Formats: sequence, structure tokens, C-alpha cells
Amino acid sequence: MKKCLIILCLIIPGIAFSQDIKLTRTILDTLTSKTMWGRGYTNNGLGKAADYISAQFKAYGLSPMDGKTFKQDFSFPVNTFPGSMELKINGKSLIAGKDFIVKPESMGGKASGKLEQKDSSTFISSTDQVVITLKDKLTWSVSTKLTDHTEIQVIKSAITTPENFDINIENSFIPEFKAENICGLVKGTAHPDSIVVFTAHYDHLGGMGSTTYFPGANDNASGVSFLLSMAKYYAANPAPYTMAFICFAGEEAGLIGSKYFTENPLVDLSKIRFLINIDMVGTGETGITVVNATVYPKEFTLLNQINDANNYLAKIKSRGKAPNSDHYFFSEKGVPAFFIYTTGGIAAYHNIYDLPGTLPFTKYDDLFKLFIDFNSKLMK
Ligand SMILES: [Zn+2]
Repeated sequence: MKKCLIILCLIIPGIAFSQDIKLTRTILDTLTSKTMWGRGYTNNGLGKAADYISAQFKAYGLSPMDGKTFKQDFSFPVNTFPGSMELKINGKSLIAGKDFIVKPESMGGKASGKLEQKDSSTFISSTDQVVITLKDKLTWSVSTKLTDHTEIQVIKSAITTPENFDINIENSFIPEFKAENICGLVKGTAHPDSIVVFTAHYDHLGGMGSTTYFPGANDNASGVSFLLSMAKYYAANPAPYTMAFICFAGEEAGLIGSKYFTENPLVDLSKIRFLINIDMVGTGETGITVVNATVYPKEFTLLNQINDANNYLAKIKSRGKAPNSDHYFFSEKGVPAFFIYTTGGIAAYHNIYDLPGTLPFTKYDDLFKLFIDFNSKLMK
């Protein structure tokens, strides 16, 4: 019996971690599926992702942060592309996402005509309504603003010299798009007023037209699936301190969800001992980078000590302050915070090639263990 127990104890942690990578993969596939439509602003993609994440929180046994609901509502303006997304250059039909992107602040419309060359890569219609630019690579984003013309970026390999165009692009500007942050926690068993927070944005860019969407596997379905695995772990193994988990919306539109949370916090910000934001954690061959490392040197040293003692990651790179993800408005408000992303491996970013199958999750287990060790050492 004793022997069996010892063997079980040795086996169980291993099982727990391997189940987590399985769970992470399932969540990753769900979040990047066509149904969720790039977790954005058309086909209710963002709303479906919000429902899915809060259902996961509930299933694991987390408590809503405000005691009532996992969802924190807010709204913001956004320009969307729900319908037609057609472009012909010199009579050739181009493929949305692969051959071209429309700049996110663009007005839609139906038009055709001749193009006049302005410089080596810019071509403008005689009405000034349509601008075509040639690019080496395409990177899409989200806009909260709307301009009075249509700008389209075309990949150089698709066309040599644009002479005439034909567009049929539908846009819809939504002044108050409704979005939700998903906020849950596992109450501490001994010191519930001391909080460690994990955050990851679940929104991505959504869809561009009715046939093209951006899956955003690394950015940031990877972070959300990782966060959910951690949430499940802590719900099953509550810590002495409170573990809080937030999945933000509106990150790609300008850190809107996390800014809203810091202005309308559901936990006392002064009780947050530390916050770790994870955004793009699907690789890890060369290690991780820590934004705010130089701002919080004590915690950065601790992270390195744990890593060195256990040989988890190849390298932990230090970076200074940067307003490049959801940690930013927290540290601006005095909440100690790191933003962590993995390095090495694939580099697809804000394009249609950021797919779940490309993510190796090379350092999934090691990163998971590093975080759990860090939390417990930090809160000792
Ligand atoms: Zn991101």
C-alpha cells in the first residue's frame, strides 16, 4: 500500500503536466477555429470566445472576481469588415489575407478606375479615394478610427505594376462595440488578501471580409490556453494566497480591456503582489523575454535563480518598460508586473499564417513549472 502510494505520488505530477499540454492543445484548437472567427468583431467571434473562456473558468471551479459574473463589460469603437472583400488589379483577382490586406481604418466601397504611380510602391486612383501600396509582407491590425478613403496593401509577389483596380469592399464602423474581460479567481487558503494575477488577452484581429479570418494561434490563443491550464491547476491545488486570472478583450485595438480594468478594478490593485501577463508563448526554443525586468530587478533575479536551479529554459532575456501588452497600465498604476513571451521558433505575426499547427509549445512544461515555483517562492 505504502509502496503504491509512493509510486502514485511520483507519477501523478507527470500525468498532471502531460494532461495540461493536451488540454492546452484542445483549447488552442477551439480558440483558433473558424467558429471563433479570429476572436474579433464579426460573426460574434469575440463573444463566442468570451462564452467559451468563462465556461472553462466555471468548469474548473473558479469564482467570479466580483462574486457574480466572470464577465466585465465595456465598449469601444471599431471598424469592421463583415462582407465583401474583393480586389482586382490589372484584371487579376487577388486573395484576401494572402495577396492583400485592407488597412483597418479604411472606408469600404465599390469602385474601379486607373491608378497613378506616386512613388516606387504607392499607386493612387484619380479620385484619391483608393490607395494601393506594394509591400514585402502583410501585417494586419485593428482600428478604432475610420478614414475617408480605402488603402490596400498588396504583396509584391502578386503584382508588378498596378495600373487599374476594381474593388468591392464592405466596412461597418461600430461606435460602441460591446466586449468583455473574463475575470476569475481561486481564493487563497491562508492569505486571501494577497494576490498573484495571471493575464492574457483573448481577442485577436477577427475577420477581414466574409471568407478570411486571422486565427491568432500564437497571438494570443497560446497565452489563453496556457492561462486556462494554470487556472485549472490552481483550482485543484489552491495556494495560500489568492490566484487571479484575467483574459482581456480589446488588446489588439490598443490595450483597451486592460486599461478599462485598471480604471474599474474588480480586486484592490494595492493587494496585487505581482502580475504576470503572457502574450505569445507558443514557442520557447531560445527561452523567454521578460518586459519590465529592469523595473522589478528583485523578482527578475528570483525568476533567474529558479530557472538556473532547475534548468527550465535556455535563457531569460531582460527588457525594460514597454507599452506593448496588457501589463502596461497595471505597472503604470504601481502594480508590479512582468510581460513574458517565448522566443525562437515560428515568427508568423498578425497574418493568416499564425496557425495552431505551427506552434511547438517547446517549453510548455518548463514554463508551467517555472511559474508555479516563482509564485510560491515570491509569496513565501
Ligand atoms: Zn498579442
